[in-house]
This record gives sequence, structure tokens and C-alpha cells, in this order.
Amino acid sequence: MVTPQQEPPGRQVSGHEPRGSSAAPLMGQMMQMPLLISSLLHHAARHFGDTEIVTRRIEGDLHRYTYADCEVRAKQLAQALLATGVKRGDRIGTLAWNTYRHLEVYYGTSGMGAVCHTINPRLFAEQLVFIINHAEDRFVLFDITFAALVDQLAAQCPQVRGWIALTDRAHLPAMQTPIICYEEWLAAQSGEFDWPQFDELSASSLCYTSGTTGHPKGALYSHRSTVLHAYGAALPDAMACSARDAIMPVVPMFHVNAWGIPYTAPLVGAKLVLPGKDLDGASLYALMESEQVSFSAGVPTVWLGLLNYLSQNNLQFSSFKRTVIGGSACPPAMLRSFEDQFGVHVIHAWGMTELSPLGTLANLKAKHAALPPEAQRHILEKQGHVIFGVDLRIVGIDGLELPWDGVSFGDLQVRGPWVVERYFGQLESPLIDGWFPTGDVATIDADGYMQITDRSKDVIKSGGEWISSIEIENVAMAHPEVAEAACISCAHPKWDERPLLVVVRKPGTEVDRESLLQFYEGRVAKWWIPDDIAFVDAIPHTATGKIQKLKLRELFKNHVLPSVSQMQAEST
Ligand code: AMP
Repeated sequence: MVTPQQEPPGRQVSGHEPRGSSAAPLMGQMMQMPLLISSLLHHAARHFGDTEIVTRRIEGDLHRYTYADCEVRAKQLAQALLATGVKRGDRIGTLAWNTYRHLEVYYGTSGMGAVCHTINPRLFAEQLVFIINHAEDRFVLFDITFAALVDQLAAQCPQVRGWIALTDRAHLPAMQTPIICYEEWLAAQSGEFDWPQFDELSASSLCYTSGTTGHPKGALYSHRSTVLHAYGAALPDAMACSARDAIMPVVPMFHVNAWGIPYTAPLVGAKLVLPGKDLDGASLYALMESEQVSFSAGVPTVWLGLLNYLSQNNLQFSSFKRTVIGGSACPPAMLRSFEDQFGVHVIHAWGMTELSPLGTLANLKAKHAALPPEAQRHILEKQGHVIFGVDLRIVGIDGLELPWDGVSFGDLQVRGPWVVERYFGQLESPLIDGWFPTGDVATIDADGYMQITDRSKDVIKSGGEWISSIEIENVAMAHPEVAEAACISCAHPKWDERPLLVVVRKPGTEVDRESLLQFYEGRVAKWWIPDDIAFVDAIPHTATGKIQKLKLRELFKNHVLPSVSQMQAEST
């Protein structure tokens, strides 16, 4: 046995070899098993073999099978891909909802060494063509709801060797594009297949993030980063997933791998409930009740629909206990409604495609247990605390780190083993001194809780000071007659920019400009109160459910604030 005393003199405790040292490092003597995605499904099939995966199928009915069944079919898919000449590292695209077949594609592709490239079908056709061509997808597997879309794209994606419809022969759509039937493709294979072992740093999956400017950029995850992220996500102070859960990812599998749930659920052996294409309140509620869902995750816009449905129909959940909400800021009013009206604990989370996506989650520390409920709520409304695997900092315009005082805000930067180092196909790395610049503006308090104040391009710069559009929106969302609110900047000759609030009223309500402005009194600093309010029927959203601020700014570019017209009148 080698004890520290036997180490050569001068050896550094940090583990770094002293410069010029010839001493061989003392290596650990544990098994070297690469962290591979296939091991997650294999684990679930072997140790939770009869745990169910239930899907609301695109064909309309409910489908149920087990992790053991899923592994056999994922292996059949791996065999089918190998048989058509797909090689390790080849990209395989998907245009698909949350279903058991999509899950098989996740594991069948990555498991045999190819790269599962999930594509967001809500993007514009030109963006989809760009993404499929940039990724050089060999095959694209699609749900039959996207048949017309595939017909539109196929001619412009010449390097795709085959388009595979995720259905059986009876449901094959009539299309111009020659297609392959998924079920027949699988049926030709035996499923007797050993998952290959290879380097855990190999690429496993690819997601493009559609920025508001420029071409979409690809985050290329590795097996190692994905498995580590799945471990991190399952932690008690993250999503707290267990084998006793029935987990329903409402966040789509085409958006950052449904926040990793398709990997975390098999890791802990949880039942999976996959809602397919119908994400309206009534459909989600029915499935959650019939399958006794205990945990779910989604963006605020989807939960708005579910909460409205419950309120309108006077319903309660019988099994739903916890939900992660992220993707955009969870309005405190939504958090309260979930907790107080429906007994569902909300875990507010922040992340991004470049982070696999989890970065922070809001959970309390032991020292917060004695705080009054309101003070606890205040902490839980923030975007939260990092989990092991992510480190963060905020920097000012001079690039220097800002204090963790909960007040100073600056550009948020992150680093860790599941954070992107460079984008797919790009030589230049976006990192600054080893940190990834997120494009978000945030504060961090003394306990390490991070709060996003804005995307850096959405922040409102008024008289040299910054106004948080998220905070203005949160106040409006707390008004009982407001369904949705977005705050954007409007040009102002004196202050540069002033906030304009765009509001969708709840059906049948009549809240007006004056009473809503009055609602702000005492809730934010006087100079943060919006200069004007515009009522609209709907607010535009991006393909991932975020408010499209760029489009809103475009729509309201000629809007004249009352304070500006008053200034103009006075000067004439
Ligand atoms: P995406 O890569 O599409 O998942 O988008 C990531 C971006 O969504 C982040 O950089 C944030 O701007 C925003 N975002 C995600 N979660 C939150 C949250 N909880 N609060 C505010 N913004 C969020």
C-alpha cells in the first residue's frame, strides 16, 4: 500500500505534477467503464425491467411497454442503422414529439455510436433546411404529423439518404418523398445485439439553439457529459427523481433533450409518461391523472394552459407533487398558484442548450428552514443554486468578477463538464478565460442563489440605469386579470429607452391601462413603472415557448409613448 508519506518529497497535494518531475502518477485502480448512454437504458432494462413507459401515441391511442421492451427495440434500431451503413459519428435527425419511438431513437442511435440530432419542428423551413444540411444528417426519422413538412424540406436536403416515418404500415402517410416505414425497418432485425463500448468522450447527441440573430448553432454533447448531467439532474436538490416517480416530460424531446429526462428517468428507474403531440390543458390533465404522474417539467407558457384548464373546471391533481419550471422566468404568481391552489411544489430552474441544459435550480438550504414562508418563497422565486457540475460567476463590462451581494448585476458566465466548449463545426471557441458567456444578465446573492434580470439584449436602459424586463412582467402576471405580459424597450428622446408593457387580458376581463399602472405603485421603484401599456390578443412565442421580444420590438417600433408625445407637444 502506498501512503502519502511514501510519496516523493515535493509532491503537490493538488495532484499536479511539479514541473520537471519524473515521478509517475499513482493511478487509481478501479474499473475503467466508459460512461455511455447505452448503459442508462441497459441499467433500467436489467434492474427496472418491468417499469412502464406510457405514450399518448400520435396515432391517438395509449401505448404502454417496459424498459426491457424499449431496450430490445432500441437494439433493433441500432442493428437497422448498422445494416444501412451508418457509422459511428454519423448524425441521425429526428422531427418528433415525446413518444416511446423517439426514446428508442435516442438510445438506438447514440447506443451504436451515431449522434442523435433532435430538430425543433417549430422552426421556420429555411432554418430546418440549414440545420439538417449543416449537421449533414444521414437519415431523418419523423412523426407522421410532420409529413407535409418533410415533403417541403426533402428536396433541399440532398445528403439525407432516407426519411423514416415513425409509424406502422397502416398509418403511413401519402407523401411525395419516398419514405421508409419504421416498424417494418425494426421488424427486420432480431434485437440480439451487444451495445458497443467506446470512448465516453465520443459525440452522442446534437441540439441546435436558434439565436435571434445569425444561423442556429449546434451544441454537440458527449456520452460522458450526458451521463454526468443525468446524475446531476437526479440529485435531491436538483429534480429529485426516484424509482417511485412517474415522470412526464412536457418539455419536448426536440428541445435540449427534454432537459435530460429521457436519460435521468432510466438512471433512477422511474416510470416515464410521454404526452405525444397534444399539450393542451385538458389532454395533459387527463394523462397525468390516468397515469398518476408525480413529477413533470415544462416552460411557463405550457403550464399557463394547464392551470387555466384546472381553474376553469374546478379540478385538482391527485398525484402531481413537483414540477420543474424553466426555459423562461417562472412568474412568482404561477409559482404561488401551483403551490397554494394545487399543492404542487415548484422548482424554478435555469439552463440553456449550451448547458445540456441544467445550470441552477431553486431549492432551500438547511439554514433557510427557520425562515418565515414569505422569505422562503422569495428565495425559491430566484433561478436558484448550482448543482455540482456547474460553476458560475457574474462579470461587469470591464470583464472583472462582480460581488455576490444579490444587487450587483452583470454578464453571467458558466463552466463545467456539461457546458459547451465550442459549437459544432466552428473552430473558434466562444469561451472567455475558460468561461462560457451565457448572454444572460444576473445577480448572485451571498448564499450563491442566482437571479436572471434579463437577456442582455432585452434589458431596458433608461437614463444610464438598467430596468429588468422580467421583474416588470412578473408584477403584471400577479394581476388577477392578466393572462400574459411582455415588457420591451421603447425609444425615448430623454431617457434613451423606457419600458412598454404588452398585455393579454384573461378572457372576459377588462383591466385597463390606468388600473394596471396603479397596480405597480409600491411594487417596483417609481421610475421602473412602464410608460405605457398596449393590450393585444396574443403575444408571439419562439419555437421553444419564449416570448419573441425581437418580433414585439419590431411590431411596436413606431409606438409613441404618451410621455414622448407630451414632450413633442410642449416643444411646439
Ligand atoms: P435555450 O437554449 O433555448 O434553452 O434558452 C436558454 C435561455 O433561456 C437562457 O439563456 C435564458 O435567457 C432563458 N432561460 C432559461 N431558463 C430561464 C429562467 N428560469 N428564467 C429566465 N430565463 C431563462
